[in-house]
Amino acid sequence: MTVFEQVKSAIDMRTVAEGYGLEISRGGMALCPFHNERTPSAKIYPDALHCFGCGTHVDVIGFTQKMFGLDKPIDAVKKLNEDFGLNIEIGKAPAAKEVSEYQKRVQEKRAYEEWEKSAWRTLNDYLWLMREWREFAPASPDEIPDERFVYSLHHLDYAEYLCWEFINFNKAGRLSMKNIVNQIADFQKNMSADF
Ligand SMILES: [Zn+2]
Repeated sequence: MTVFEQVKSAIDMRTVAEGYGLEISRGGMALCPFHNERTPSAKIYPDALHCFGCGTHVDVIGFTQKMFGLDKPIDAVKKLNEDFGLNIEIGKAPAAKEVSEYQKRVQEKRAYEEWEKSAWRTLNDYLWLMREWREFAPASPDEIPDERFVYSLHHLDYAEYLCWEFINFNKAGRLSMKNIVNQIADFQKNMSADF
């Protein structure tokens, strides 16, 4: 574990944000320190601050670095270590390679979280669409059924199953659904052409 990870597991975002003067509401919102605002739009998560106003997304290290205009992430690590008495042993400055690997992991985590959000939206939209299309059921047995109704007959269970899986899977399982999610996103994009 690098000192970055040690710091992040030793202290959470809320403690850091409050320690450096942010007032956090019950809903976990605070005035964003990185842009001017009167209504809180920064959400404090256990491991990150995300501002819906200016788009800033930082972990405890990024937060401290930005807040105090520090040059390098390691400077933020040192400051946090001192200010919050974390007692983490910081040897020589980590090699550039270690820093860039750490930053890469942070970016990957962020990218995955973004993907997870949009994948869930796609699957959930699909489920609701299948439910909606049930409403195109023919009024009488003689009527030729609407294509959307027929499609939903074949796919509503599938859509429910996919949502259920996505909710219950871990990260690796969710990622294994990437192709299916893409297919469904394509289906939704092309839908207006087909129906
Ligand atoms: Zn902001």
